Amino acid sequence: MDSLQTPIAYLKGVGPNRANLLKDELGISTYQDLLHFFPYRYIDRSQFYSINDLPRNTSEVQIIGEIISFKLIQQQRGKRLVAIFSDGKSNMELVWFRGQKWIQDTLKTNTPYVIFGRLSWYGGKPSIPHPEMELEDAFKKGPPRALHAVYPSTEKLLSKGISQRVLTKIMMELFQTIKTSFVESIPEKIIEKYKLITKDAALRNAHFPIDQKTLTAAQNRLKFEELLFIQLQLLMKNMQRKQKIKGFVFKKVGENFNDFYKNKLPFELTKAQQRVLREIRKDVGTGRQMNRLLQGDVGSGKTIVALMSMLLAKDNGFQSCLMAPTEILARQHYQSLSELLRGLDVNISILSGSSKKSERAVISEDLLSGKLDILIGTHAVIEDHVTFLNLGLAIVDEQHRFGVAQRAKLWRKNTIPPHVLVMTATPIPRTLAMSLYGDLDISVIDELPPGRKQVKTIHRYDSNRLKIFKFIFDEIQKGRQIYIVYPLIQESETMDYKDLMDGYESIARHFPPPQFQISIVHGKMKAADKQYEMERFIKKETQIMVATTVIEVGVNVPNASVMIVESAERFGLSQLHQLRGRVGRGNEQSYCVLMSSNKLSQDGKTRLETMTRTTDGFEIAEVDLRLRGPGDLMGTQQSGILQLKIADIIKDNELLKIARKDAFEILKLDPTLSSVENRPLLQTLAKMKAYRNIWNYIS
Ligand code: ADP
Ligand code: MG
Repeated sequence: MDSLQTPIAYLKGVGPNRANLLKDELGISTYQDLLHFFPYRYIDRSQFYSINDLPRNTSEVQIIGEIISFKLIQQQRGKRLVAIFSDGKSNMELVWFRGQKWIQDTLKTNTPYVIFGRLSWYGGKPSIPHPEMELEDAFKKGPPRALHAVYPSTEKLLSKGISQRVLTKIMMELFQTIKTSFVESIPEKIIEKYKLITKDAALRNAHFPIDQKTLTAAQNRLKFEELLFIQLQLLMKNMQRKQKIKGFVFKKVGENFNDFYKNKLPFELTKAQQRVLREIRKDVGTGRQMNRLLQGDVGSGKTIVALMSMLLAKDNGFQSCLMAPTEILARQHYQSLSELLRGLDVNISILSGSSKKSERAVISEDLLSGKLDILIGTHAVIEDHVTFLNLGLAIVDEQHRFGVAQRAKLWRKNTIPPHVLVMTATPIPRTLAMSLYGDLDISVIDELPPGRKQVKTIHRYDSNRLKIFKFIFDEIQKGRQIYIVYPLIQESETMDYKDLMDGYESIARHFPPPQFQISIVHGKMKAADKQYEMERFIKKETQIMVATTVIEVGVNVPNASVMIVESAERFGLSQLHQLRGRVGRGNEQSYCVLMSSNKLSQDGKTRLETMTRTTDGFEIAEVDLRLRGPGDLMGTQQSGILQLKIADIIKDNELLKIARKDAFEILKLDPTLSSVENRPLLQTLAKMKAYRNIWNYIS
């Protein structure tokens, strides 16, 4: 067994009790774990204070001096041990609340010590509770310690006597016990390319840095290594998946596709749309199952890509389905696709929660006979009782509303799993997406159709509401339509509905019938009622749509040119971006008005500022990520990306990109990592895998 897999209980100064504590509190079981338990900060220990010059705050200080005397003081609960400590000019107190006997027995009086700890001030007098103490002699003989590591710890560890000092001691013991140097895990070529320091030097300096420069180099090297191995694993997993899972072959580009492309397509595809279609066509032609994520900002034209992919399926004798997260959206897809398909020999239908029994029966029959080519719908489409004759392609729109379980269901729809295209407008920075969805290939539509005018975005306080009403009035006079959206957050549902209804009434007063008509849509309404209200708006029978975020995703009403978001400070950035994406879909200048109270949190301010500054979904996503961290992003929990030991997926994003690129290039030349130069990689990966398996086995 690799000596690094030795349980830490065997390390001198640890033993079974401390080993258990370290495992429970910090997840450290083996030498390897301990070695990769990195400090979260470093403190400068090159400076010494005299007691007279101590800073009047609670910073950590280092002093040289001697203990003159001890006294044990009885207090309400237990005792405290106080040492009078002198640096030759002045005195101060060192205090212990625990382990007094041991301390009094061990520490010598009238002997120079280097002490280190956090200052307390009581009645103008400094003291240091539980200082780290080291004989000056030993300190001088020890390794240079300009920078001193501070490790993450817990209350419990502290209360059980595992202080920073003990952690440092244990760490020193570890390095003394492992006598050999640490095996290099990165190929020579890459080490040279980036002038990385060796693994051995990196590990030693991460824990016991000789100076700031070397520490930085050590951290950089360890972060790079961590990211490189994650990327290698993801890419290899992806390669294996492609080899293993057979898929249907869509050999030809046939009649329907060509007819549509030449005669029906109402506009020219953007370069990005063309590229993505090529990527999809290549995928489905290989004989392996496609698993592709299509990212494209709101309004970038993902639907047409979906449609043309489905035509490809049809031309090769396969059925396809398109799933949307809401019924409104499914219906809208159905209507717009039906229109686009008019005159083609393609049968399309819709199945949703509110489909009637008789409709379902017809759909069932046509699906089984193969008469139906395309089925649009909500989750209902993948219910187990829905049986296709030969489902060849499944498209999931706005995937962030779809769970993994639902994706899995799809796979059971055919003996060979259908090709899967997952479309999302949630802009995730590309490198992060690649790390999160290692098992998906990624296509990006990074260009909007030509002629789109940028949506003008403004932020207004509630006190300016009357001016906004005037603005709404003017836009309606021009023939435009308006969305007004209210937040709906579950915890305060009743209050939110009150906001919504109050808002509706106030708007209705300002814009009374018959001149004005208002639609209202919210989550508590029946699907049919929502649909009815929505349709009135689409048909321009109503000028204003008052809604909760049910309209957030995907609704397409090109004549709507104003999006007013109430209590905008309560929405997340990606939601605001989605909402804004509902306008600016036609040729008119569009506007997004973010209404807020004037009590804004710092984050709230940043969000609104970001929205008024940019319309670039990816830029917005980066800000969002910085504000919220990756923890809130879907998929991050399972991906292991959060269990990084030293790298930070956001702060080290540049490094991640480099690591990704290197991993890609390495695997391109040597997919199995079998060359001599890549042996360090292969060995490290094998170890990672082996120990993970051991872990699974034990726990
Ligand atoms: P999303 O990517 O948000 O789903 P849609 O597919 O709904 O976007 O497209 C938004 C609008 O842009 C639709 O009205 C669609 O017809 C139109 N559109 C899509 N592609 C193009 C293009 N290449 N040129 C012009 N308009 C396009
Ligand atoms: Mg869409």
